[in-house]
This record gives sequence, structure tokens and C-alpha cells, in this order.
Amino acid sequence: MKQVNTVKTYLIKKENEILLIEKACRIVADTLSLIEKTIKPGITTLELDTIAEDYIRSKNAEPAFKGYGGPDNPFPFTLCVSINEEVVHGLPKNLALKEGDIVSVDCGAQLNGYFGDSAITVAVGEIDEEKKKLMKITEESLFQGIKQAISGNKVYDISRAVQAHCESNGFSLTRELVGHGIGKRLHEEPAIPNFVPTLLQRNHFPNLKLLKGMALAIEPMVHAGKHQVKTASDGWTVYTADLKPAAHFEHTVIVDDKHPLILTLRD
Ligand code: MG
Ligand code: MG
Repeated sequence: MKQVNTVKTYLIKKENEILLIEKACRIVADTLSLIEKTIKPGITTLELDTIAEDYIRSKNAEPAFKGYGGPDNPFPFTLCVSINEEVVHGLPKNLALKEGDIVSVDCGAQLNGYFGDSAITVAVGEIDEEKKKLMKITEESLFQGIKQAISGNKVYDISRAVQAHCESNGFSLTRELVGHGIGKRLHEEPAIPNFVPTLLQRNHFPNLKLLKGMALAIEPMVHAGKHQVKTASDGWTVYTADLKPAAHFEHTVIVDDKHPLILTLRD
């Protein structure tokens, strides 16, 4: 009989592993702080990518996303940069940001065999009220989810908290992409959906019990409009089907008894 819903031992990180994940996460957080400060109208997303790659390599780490996805269409850059209706996995390009854009920047790094992963959405100059609210609610929903990352809870407690906060504010969540465990691989079990799965989906998203020492990347992807998404012809960029703006915030956290440890907090 197939066993589901059991926590594999490698998902519980030992103290020395948590310290290694923390080091990778520190580099990710500092890269995002640098990018956040650098974002302004006129800068291109390719310039942001170069700055991020140089910084990560200066710390003797590797960009985690570069080459991700296998030989057919490996992700070619350090950052995922997704503007306005782009949700995630946008490719940096020679395109200048302009006043009023919102830009989601996702960054991962590998150091000594362990990964860190985090994302922020940043306003370019002055943005409209809808985008302001979208960014605020998305980041708040991330912290609502993180609060549930305590031992004894289950994966869906995180999902439920994220979903409730976003939907009660009139927003929707990406269904096709989810958060994940993290450690020696960028994406490990468990999948962490930002919605409580329907009965038919529950085999894909086992409602694992959370145990102290699990490392999770929690990452709500939130749309101002409807939840449907499309993928662009580059094979990567995911954007909202109704072309309404989207936001994305992500932290890598360690499950603990009362207060999860957030490893990618920015100074
Ligand atoms: Mg990420
Ligand atoms: Mg992630």
C-alpha cells in the first residue's frame, strides 16, 4: 500500500543543517535588500539581474535559479523578475522599469550545498491604490501563513491562513504554483499550496504534519483579478489571464514549537 502523509526524516533539519540554510538565506535576503534599494524608474531588469548575480558570487555562493529546469529550457538568469500582470518566473530583459509598475523579484542562492529562497514585490515610484493594497495584503498573507508554521499544525493550516486573508480582501491566488520544502534541494516536500485543496487535489498536496526543524518556503502569489494564469511563449513567464496585476512575497522559515524562525528577513 502506498504510504502518504508521512514525514520523511530528511525533511527534519538538524541544527548544523539549519545553520547552513541560514547562511544561504542571509545572502538571499541581502541580495533582495540591494535590489530593493536599486529599483527605480529607468533601470532595466537585466541590470538588476547582473547586480544580483555579482553580489551572490561575491559571497562565494551560486545563483540557485540559473540553469534550473533541465536541458530543454533551463532558466537563464539569477533573478525571476515579474512586472505588473506577470506573477512569477519573469525573465530579466533589456526593458526599463517605469513609474507606476510593481515588480516581483524572486531570488535563490546555494551555499555549501544548501539553498535559501525569498521574494519581494517592490513599487516603482508612485503606484495606484489597487497595487498598493495588493502588495500589502500579499505580504500580510505571507505572515499569516508563517504564523501557522508551528509544530503540531499541518500544511493546510498555512494554506487556509493565506487564502482567508487574500480572499476576504477580494483577491485571488495562483493555483498552478505552490510553496515548498527546502534544504539540500531548492524544491523539496511538502508542497505548500496557498489555498486549501479540493478533495480531488489532496493526493497531490498531502496535508503533512509540521514538525520542528522542517524548512519551508512559503510564497503566496496573489492576483488583483481572477485566479487563472497563462504561460508566455518563453516557456517561463506566468501571467494573469485577465492581465490584472499580481504580487509575490516569500520567506524561508524553520518550523518551531511556538515561533517559526524566518531566515530571509531583511535588515
Ligand atoms: Mg522563490
Ligand atoms: Mg520558492
